[in-house]
Amino acid sequence: MDWYNPSDTDIPKGHFIDGRFMSFNDDTSVDVICPSTGQAYAALNYASPDTVEFAVSQAYQAYRTNSWASMAPRERAKYLFQWAELIEKHQASLAQLESLGSSRPYHEVLQWDIPYVVDCLRFFAELADKHGGYVGATQQDRLGMVISQPYGVIGAITPWNFPMSMLMWKVGPALAAGNAVVLKPSEMTPFTSVYLAKLAVDAGIPANQFNVVQGDGKTVGQAICEHSLIGKVTFTGSTATGAAIMSTCALKGPKPSTLELGGKSPQVVFADADIDKTALTVAKAITGNAGQVCVSGSRLIIHQDIAETFSQKVLSHFSQLRMGPTWNKSTTLPPIISAGQAQRINSIVNQSIAQGAERLCGGELINDGGSFFTPTLLAITDNNNCAVQQEIFGPVLTMQTFDSDEQAWALASHETYGLAAGIHTQNLQRALTGMRQIEAGSVWINRYGRSFDHIMPTGGFKQSGIGKDIGVEAFQANLKTKSVLIDF
Ligand code: NAD
Repeated sequence: MDWYNPSDTDIPKGHFIDGRFMSFNDDTSVDVICPSTGQAYAALNYASPDTVEFAVSQAYQAYRTNSWASMAPRERAKYLFQWAELIEKHQASLAQLESLGSSRPYHEVLQWDIPYVVDCLRFFAELADKHGGYVGATQQDRLGMVISQPYGVIGAITPWNFPMSMLMWKVGPALAAGNAVVLKPSEMTPFTSVYLAKLAVDAGIPANQFNVVQGDGKTVGQAICEHSLIGKVTFTGSTATGAAIMSTCALKGPKPSTLELGGKSPQVVFADADIDKTALTVAKAITGNAGQVCVSGSRLIIHQDIAETFSQKVLSHFSQLRMGPTWNKSTTLPPIISAGQAQRINSIVNQSIAQGAERLCGGELINDGGSFFTPTLLAITDNNNCAVQQEIFGPVLTMQTFDSDEQAWALASHETYGLAAGIHTQNLQRALTGMRQIEAGSVWINRYGRSFDHIMPTGGFKQSGIGKDIGVEAFQANLKTKSVLIDF
C-alpha cells in the first residue's frame, strides 16, 4: 500500500534567487534519478558561473542594504518562527517531495525529519537575541568592547542523505545570526531546498537573504567556495570533499570553513549491557536510512562472551526489515541513493570477505528498479580489514570482539574518523572511562543517535570534521568578533 502517488508530486523548477524561482538560458539541464525506481523523474538546471555570480552578489547586496542584519534580533526571530510555522503547514507536500527524491521514507519524514527541521529552526530563532560581546580589561581612560557581527554571506553546501535537516543545520543559525546565505544542495536531492527557500520568503524573510543555486559540486559548489563575497563556507559531506573545500577556501581567501564529514562510528557493547534493548539499538543504528547516516553505528565492538547470542538478536531484527520504495507504507529499509553508491557498497563488502571477513548475513545487492542492499553483518578479526577502515554508507555492520576494557577502547578508536560512538554497559565507571577515552565528537551511553536536544552540538574529531553544527556553538560560528577601542 502506498502513502501517495509519486507521479502526482509537483517538482519546483529552477534556482531560487531574488525571492523567486529562476532559470537561465545558460543553465545545463540534467536528469535527476528517483532512488526508489532508478528512473529519471525531473530535470535539474545546473547553474553557470554567471548564475552563481548573480546569486552571491544579490545575497551580498541584500546583506549590505536591506534590513535583515540590522533588524532588532527579536524581530528577525519573529520571521524565523513564521517560517517554521509555514514548514509545518506544508509538511505533507514537503515530505512527499523529500521522499520521492531521496532515500527517506515518507512516514519517517513526517514523523522525524519535519519536526526535527522545525524544532531546529525554532532553536536558532530563540538564540537570535541571546548573545553579546564583552568589555575588556583595558586602561582606565579607554573603553574596549568586543562585539560580534555576521560574516555577511555564508556559502552552504549540503549532502543528499537528510536534505532538509542538513539544510536547516546551516541556514537556521546563519539567518538567525543575521547573515545572508547562498546554498547549493546535493544535485541528487535538490528540490526541497528551493521549496523551503520559497516558504522563507512567504514568511516575510527578505528576498535574497536565502538564495539557492542548483548544480554539481565541482563547478557550482566550487564557484561558491571561491567567490570573494562569500565570508564563510559551511559544508556537510564526505571527508574527501571537505578536504577539497578547505583547500579552495585556503587558496581563494583564505576564508574560514565549518566541515561536517564522514564517520566510522563504534558501538561498544559490554557483557553487562541490557542485551535485548541494545541489540535493537545496534540494529537500528546501522539500518536507519539504510545505513546512509553519517553517525551510523557501523562497527560493533562486543565482549566475546556475548558475541554469539547478541549477534543472533541483531540478525533477527535485520530479518524483520522490509525493502521498498519510500512511498510504500511497509518500507523500513529504503533504497540506496544511487546505483553507483550501491555498487560501491557491494564492492567493499566483497573485498572485505576476500580479506577474511566472515559474512553472517546479507551482502546482497538487489536491483528492483531502485538499488537495495540487504542488511549485512561481517565478523572480522583483522582491524585493517577494509570494511572496518572505510566509511561504507550502507547497512553494513562489522563485528569485532574483545575480552578486556582496554582492548575495547583500543578497537573503538579509529585511525581516520572520530564522529560518534556508543557505549552500552550498566557500569557507570566503565561508561565514563570510555566516554573520556574515545576520540569522537559525540558519545552516547546506553542509547545511540542524535536527539531533539538541539543544545547538544554535533561535529567530528580527526578527519570527521572541523567545527560544530547545532548547539550554541553552531550559532556562534556564524558570527565574527570585532574589537573596538574608545579613548575617553
Ligand atoms: P559529497 O561530499 O559527495 O557531496 C556533498 C556536497 O558537496 C554535494 O552538494 C556536492 O555537490 C558538493 N561537492 C562535491 N564536490 C565539491 C567541490 N569540489 N566543491 C564544492 N562542493 C562540492 O557527500 P555526499 O555523498 O553528498 O554525502 C555523504 C557524505 O556526507 C558521507 O561521507 C557522510 O558521512 C557525510 N555526512 C556527514 C554528516 C556529519 O554531520 N558529519 C552529516 C551528513 C552526511
